[in-house]
Amino acid sequence: MEKSPYKTESVTLFSFFWQFARLQKWKFFLIFSLSLVWALDATLWPYLLRLIIDTFTHYDANRFAAWSALKWLLLAGFSLWVLVEFCFRTRDFLQAIALPKLEADIRMRMFDHIQHHSPKYFNENFAGSLSNKISDMTTQITSIVQNVILFIPAIATCLLSILFFIQVNGLFALILGGWITVHFIICFICTKKCVDYSNIHGEARSTLVGKIVDSFTNNFAVNLFFRFRFEKERIAHFQKEEQDKNYQSKRYIAWMFTILSIVFIVGGVVLNGFMIFYWMKGGISTGEAIQIFNTSWNVTLVIWFAGEVIPQFYQSVGIANQALTVMHAPQDVLNIPQAQSLVVNKGEIIFENVSFQYGDKMLFANKDVFIRGGEKVGLVGYSGAGKSTFVNLILRFYPLAHGRILIDGQNIAHVTLDSLRKQVTLIPQDPLLFHRSLEDNIHYGRLEASQEEVREVATYAHCDEFIRKRPQGYASLVGERGTKLSGGERQRIAIARAMLTGASILILDEATSALDSVTENYIQESLERLMQNRTSLVIAHRLSTLAKMDRILVFHQGKIVEEGNHLELMSEGGHYAQMWQMQAGGFLPDTPE
Ligand code: ADP
Repeated sequence: MEKSPYKTESVTLFSFFWQFARLQKWKFFLIFSLSLVWALDATLWPYLLRLIIDTFTHYDANRFAAWSALKWLLLAGFSLWVLVEFCFRTRDFLQAIALPKLEADIRMRMFDHIQHHSPKYFNENFAGSLSNKISDMTTQITSIVQNVILFIPAIATCLLSILFFIQVNGLFALILGGWITVHFIICFICTKKCVDYSNIHGEARSTLVGKIVDSFTNNFAVNLFFRFRFEKERIAHFQKEEQDKNYQSKRYIAWMFTILSIVFIVGGVVLNGFMIFYWMKGGISTGEAIQIFNTSWNVTLVIWFAGEVIPQFYQSVGIANQALTVMHAPQDVLNIPQAQSLVVNKGEIIFENVSFQYGDKMLFANKDVFIRGGEKVGLVGYSGAGKSTFVNLILRFYPLAHGRILIDGQNIAHVTLDSLRKQVTLIPQDPLLFHRSLEDNIHYGRLEASQEEVREVATYAHCDEFIRKRPQGYASLVGERGTKLSGGERQRIAIARAMLTGASILILDEATSALDSVTENYIQESLERLMQNRTSLVIAHRLSTLAKMDRILVFHQGKIVEEGNHLELMSEGGHYAQMWQMQAGGFLPDTPE
């Protein structure tokens, strides 16, 4: 199996974060350092206040004489104030630069990693859930950084306050230290449960959102069967579950803060009680009493914030770790290190001993197929026989379990994917289009193509006539997945897009939906032009198409059971002839019934 270019297997949340943070490490270092000024603000202010009040008391009899001492204190206070504001505002600007860049870098890396997965991965993972993972990661990493920016200064404030208190009286330091310890022990004990409740709520919420999305996606069926009430009642059931879990989680947090409030009251009463007692018996000055009162108030605020931050932090880490799982999945189809560009002259395709399985289910075993350059090959068989998988393997959408596929003698596993997809193109049965303009959708086939080339292929593919009828012409938007166009129009856009690629090998899954005869003629004519001078593989459903094929491969349960042209196969009287007899309205059947 090919290796992912990213270090995906061992990536932890921190190392993932660090890949991006190190690109701006000085900014992050400054952001965290400047945040520490909060601790100075919370502890130095009360200390200055103490000195000012003690100066007031000292010079109470001759207040004018206080100025010589006061002016320095006021200058220190003013300087501290300016310093704090300066540090905070500088930090804000740095954050304004660093966080959006961090988010953008993470988003682009995740998008790039996910986008490079094979269609198999997208079959197994919902696009909505993948894009949610990107958005979860960016918001949660920002939240983690902001939590740390709050938490580090909170711890520094606690330590500095204890130091200041030791300098006043060891007993106050002991009481404050005890109070802070009890506070954080309660926070940490409750955090686990908080996170558990919040995860349970998160699951209930995402189930609810999934049900809402499912209901909206199937809005056509809801309208058709007029099931508005049914859908509402169904959603209401999941909504009730989400509401209960949300209540459970919020109630637990409310209880945690109630316990912390009690600790605050007890801590505050004990600390301030001792402070008043010491002041009354003359053990500390009035300034020191004010310092203790003021500092303990600041510490209260700081540790309250820190207490709120801990569960948020763990929760963000949990969500971000969940989102990180998408980076753990290595891409299964990638360029090998010395991949060469595919060069196609004839367009010959060879399957050599190819085995392929979906999970444990073996579909192809030791398959050998030879398709001449320029040959037109029809693939037929009942639904589920393996026709789509066969052509997807030529496009290398899935890795082979065994064997090799050669195009003009070059193993497609050893060529660059870019060159392979330039030379082999596919028109699906019901092509989906980007919600972009008609011009952009055609242009997608070859981005370097000029506007004239786009118009030219559009004319060849019979798109130009219906595009020009639209008020905005080529600039018209096609609606999500191309819903503003009919099936036939979408097909013609896909044909024009394929023409633009200039690919030498064409794979076509014929549209089975009944197209009106005018549209069908247009499409047939466009396709015949497209198939000229190209190796063409057509998953054919129409009898008229089959008659034009050089050779027909008949698929049955992953095996090619018959091959030959229409007449040969009919004369064999086997599987193909049986399908032919079951034809309806010019189409081969999809199922044996
Ligand atoms: P056909 O194009 O002839 O209808 P397919 O190639 O789509 O057949 O499917 C062949 C078999 O492989 C079917 O049994 C189908 O259920 C199975 N299959 C197709 N795609 C997947 C997938 N992504 N994962 C697992 N099984 C799949």
